[in-house]
Amino acid sequence: MNILICNVGSTSLKYQLFAMEDGERVIAAGGAERVGAAKSLFYRTEEGKKVQEECVFPTHREAIQKMLSCLPAEETVDCVGFKVVHAKGVTGVQELNDGVLAAMEAFNSVAPAHNPPYLAAIRQFRALMPGVPLIGSFETAFHANMPPEASLYSIPWELTERHAIHRYGFHGASHEYMTTWAAEKTGRSDLKLISCHLGGSGSLTAVDSGRSIDTTMGLSLQCGVMQNNRIADIDPYIIFYLVEECGMTLEEVKVMLQTKSGLLGMSGVSNDLRDVEEAAAAGNERAANAVRAYTYGIKKYIGSYAAALGGLDVITFGGGIGRNSATVREQALAGLGIFGVELDPEKNRNAKGGDDISRGGSRVRIFVVDTNEEIVVARKAAKLLRAGGACHE
Ligand code: ADP
Repeated sequence: MNILICNVGSTSLKYQLFAMEDGERVIAAGGAERVGAAKSLFYRTEEGKKVQEECVFPTHREAIQKMLSCLPAEETVDCVGFKVVHAKGVTGVQELNDGVLAAMEAFNSVAPAHNPPYLAAIRQFRALMPGVPLIGSFETAFHANMPPEASLYSIPWELTERHAIHRYGFHGASHEYMTTWAAEKTGRSDLKLISCHLGGSGSLTAVDSGRSIDTTMGLSLQCGVMQNNRIADIDPYIIFYLVEECGMTLEEVKVMLQTKSGLLGMSGVSNDLRDVEEAAAAGNERAANAVRAYTYGIKKYIGSYAAALGGLDVITFGGGIGRNSATVREQALAGLGIFGVELDPEKNRNAKGGDDISRGGSRVRIFVVDTNEEIVVARKAAKLLRAGGACHE
């Protein structure tokens, strides 16, 4: 069984084709960037080397056509799997039929950077690959069984009920991957674990014996720890103050929260942590404060999740930042000795994926993980396909 996994961004597309019965071998991989711009880019891995070419992709349709034309002709595609983000009243692993697409559309306003491009791309796949099942694994699924005290907001109950407003949580594929990975690594299924998925978009999850019991993102992806250009937790009355007293329109505030905040907004330098860290090292005070605020937010959640879990065995770091930034890990874990968290600075600086970077004798083990969201989605899609229908998890 061959499963094509596609990650869709507003101007990008990434793909991997897995041969599931052949050791989950990656048959083909690549992607498109700058979709919609005058000049787009298409890249793919060929015999271990990345090759790229300039193309014109006015929409995702042309990028998808190019990708399909580059898949090895002798290989079939049994299904296309997507790491879909959000849908009203729907989660788990689903065949992407009209009902599920309508449920995604109903949450376009709470996932504006994610749902519209996914919907557009899924419709193009339907047109270009008729008869091939399209399966979505929702990023909310891993958090679907959080206890009510973690998932409910203190708004009037009628609003929660009528409008499905509660904490959903995201990055489920990555948190699930790190949870399973840590259980296998330690040989324990009863771990109290805090999973830190830190990329352009990031969240932390408290996991008790494999189950998500709390997570930092909510109804939307606009809360929790700081993001590259999106807001973290803020006082909701800042919004009313900006509109009622500071002359901004509600639309301007929305755009500010979605695209001009986070590391970019605080530092004024970049939405890429590498640039912000570099500026901080060169003496830029705003950039240094942005990194400090970012890591302080992570530290606060680690402390509160240790309390929520009633103990702590493992912390995992994954995603572009979690995997690569020794500075972020060091600052976020500094002073957490009271929870039994002892980082080894040397191991931290030289960490590779899979490493334990805790000091000998640390009660809590700290792992850097090469999280693999695509394989999680591929396995779920394969399971649904073998079972011959939609399933809810
Ligand atoms: P996304 O959330 O978009 O999938 P990634 O998980 O790939 O992104 O994370 C991207 C982010 O990782 C970049 O914005 C960059 O800030 C950060 N990053 C990548 N490499 C490093 C590094 N060596 N040091 C610090 N940050 C890094």
